[in-house]
Amino acid sequence: MNILVTGGSGMVGSSLKSRLTNADYPSSSELDLTNQRSIESFLSNKKYDYIIHLAAHVGNHHDNSIDKISYLDKNIIMNTLLTKAAYEHEIKNFLGILSTCIFPDQLNEYPMKEEVLHLGPPHKDLFSYGYAKRTHAVQLDSYKTMYDVNYNYLIPSNLYGIVTDSHFGRTHYVNDLIFKIIKHQKSNLNELELYGDGTPLRQFMFVEDFTLIIEQYVKKNINASFNVAPPENLSIDEIAKIAVKTCSSENMKIVYNPSYPNGQHRKDVCISKFRNFFPDFKFTPLNEGIKFVYDYYKDRKINEI
Ligand code: NAP
Repeated sequence: MNILVTGGSGMVGSSLKSRLTNADYPSSSELDLTNQRSIESFLSNKKYDYIIHLAAHVGNHHDNSIDKISYLDKNIIMNTLLTKAAYEHEIKNFLGILSTCIFPDQLNEYPMKEEVLHLGPPHKDLFSYGYAKRTHAVQLDSYKTMYDVNYNYLIPSNLYGIVTDSHFGRTHYVNDLIFKIIKHQKSNLNELELYGDGTPLRQFMFVEDFTLIIEQYVKKNINASFNVAPPENLSIDEIAKIAVKTCSSENMKIVYNPSYPNGQHRKDVCISKFRNFFPDFKFTPLNEGIKFVYDYYKDRKINEI
């Protein structure tokens, strides 16, 4: 099977490369997904059976809240052009990657099932990104309903893991926390300041788990869309305590700066649909994943993290 993976230089793509080794992973200069001609010429050169679409315009809450147009336009353009071109080039299988960040900001029932995706606006800081990614769900569902194609998506929780140097600054809380702890250790600082008040709840998945799931999804020929997240839904404070302990800095004092926003209070998703396809999948415990990332980066110089 000929597989095309977009976004191969990102955190998820870099990990997937070591699993689906025969797939093609063009860079964004070889295949610019905001450029229709680039997509056309790329897809005209080789017949693909499967597209795994990882590429996205991704960033942290702050960047999302100030650069709203980029997060909406770039993601809608990339997703729309690629999905349309995939169908026109008779590519039968398409796997999009959404995010639990795009679910409604507030609901009465948790964990959230896939069906509630459109039952309320996303968090205000992720409004553009959220609606752009939701639109991709609508697109993929529509192609699947209207035509005989296997166009699906996975909705992963927040991720952490090894990132390439050019992708520092685009990571989420767990990576940022590990980097901060390492910098504090190297500078002999004992007070770890975290933003907000520590109460928001998060599911964090080790990126190696997610790419193993993608690999198996493709190999098992699954034709369904569903949430993917570890069952634990921990507070920011609980995660921080696990991290300082795991990184051998149990004595580091965690303090909160509530003048920064908390972000969405919770976005935990239900994984019963995922369990239908992966009944025995074991997620990496958070402390083990953190240890792996910490060991990978701990000997770097401060300016290299
Ligand atoms: P990432 O590290 O930020 O990587 C994004 C990738 O998209 C990069 O390879 C980037 O290429 C590529 N890209 C951006 N603009 C492009 C364009 N115009 N044409 C072609 N490629 C382009 O993202 P990630 O963390 O691996 O995330 C992968 C997917 O998972 C995304 O869809 C994201 O929304 C989703 N997701 C991520 C998380 C998370 O915590 N990271 C959580 C849930 C869902 P360059 O390197 O050339 O810029």
